[in-house]
Amino acid sequence: MAKKDLDWANIGFGYHQTDKRYVDYFHDGAWEGGKLTDDPNVVLNECAETLQYAQQVFEGMKAYTWKDGSVVVFRPDQNAERMYNSAKRIEMQPYPKDKFVEAIDQVVKGNVDWVPPYGSGATLYLRPYEIGTTPIIGVAPATDYMFRIFATPVGPYYKGGATPVAVQVAQYDRAAPRGTGHVKAALNYAMSLKATVDAHQAGFAENMYLDPATQTYIEETGGSNIIFIDQNNHLVVPKSNSILPSITRRSIVYLAEHYLNLTVEERQVRFDEVPSFKECALVGTAAVLSPVGRIVNGDQVIDLPSGMDKPGKFMEELYNTLTGIQNGEVEAPEGWIHHVM
Ligand SMILES: *Cc1c(COP(=O)(O)O)cnc(C)c1O
Repeated sequence: MAKKDLDWANIGFGYHQTDKRYVDYFHDGAWEGGKLTDDPNVVLNECAETLQYAQQVFEGMKAYTWKDGSVVVFRPDQNAERMYNSAKRIEMQPYPKDKFVEAIDQVVKGNVDWVPPYGSGATLYLRPYEIGTTPIIGVAPATDYMFRIFATPVGPYYKGGATPVAVQVAQYDRAAPRGTGHVKAALNYAMSLKATVDAHQAGFAENMYLDPATQTYIEETGGSNIIFIDQNNHLVVPKSNSILPSITRRSIVYLAEHYLNLTVEERQVRFDEVPSFKECALVGTAAVLSPVGRIVNGDQVIDLPSGMDKPGKFMEELYNTLTGIQNGEVEAPEGWIHHVM
């Protein structure tokens, strides 16, 4: 077996059809057991719950090749836990957490030639998801479910890697105060597409969403949480019931406190505080840690002191610590690295 011959450094964030994917079915009150398959296509009844009423939850994580050739996944137990909670919130049969991690192992092993080599900057992105498959026309949860995981090699999500990006404050909301903003579900993305297209057309990498009730507090972007460094060099992390509990963000908070000795403030953050902040970044599995140099809200342009040329000092240290752990160069906190092979 040999690694696929891809231009790993320039691969982008796109779908490549790999060799194996995992599939399991919930039927007659139990999961069948699950196995790898070669078939990338999903065949559904035209009236399947997921097609009509969007009953779907998903996850995202990455596998990395280390210098010694071993292959690891970053904190898959956290994804298993979050997907379990997401499924419960939209009345789906949750996938057992231990089976989730076993399935991840099978998919990585089945696609080992697709795991980008050490030092390439690329990774193998793993996408677990679950859908309601029962044909239902009256609105109700499905009784049958399909759980799948596929893998695709990816480069960095934001072109240019750690080069700062500009974001704009969205003209739409992504989550309601008592809605599903904290749930990793496709439904949160369908309604964000218009805002995303608008942002890209206007030259911005992403939208920053404010709290839907008052437009006062910062929530997150469409697919990443947001963090700041304030004038006291504290890491300031927006807190809200309607932001997605990012595993990257929670990991960064831990590293800031325990590895870099920073003070962390997890609290409601008003948008009008932003002009006093020194650094900003978007954080998530796909974005890793992408520095933000400029934030625009209508006529108001906020240029962060760290600028558009390079990341700020603290974001750079956080980025190096996190990616060092993921690449096996910095010692990880207990339980963060899952060795697959
Ligand atoms: C997945 C996701 C994130 C990032 O979460 P990670 O666990 O760090 O990958 C942030 N915001 C939204 C809306 C997401 O869907």
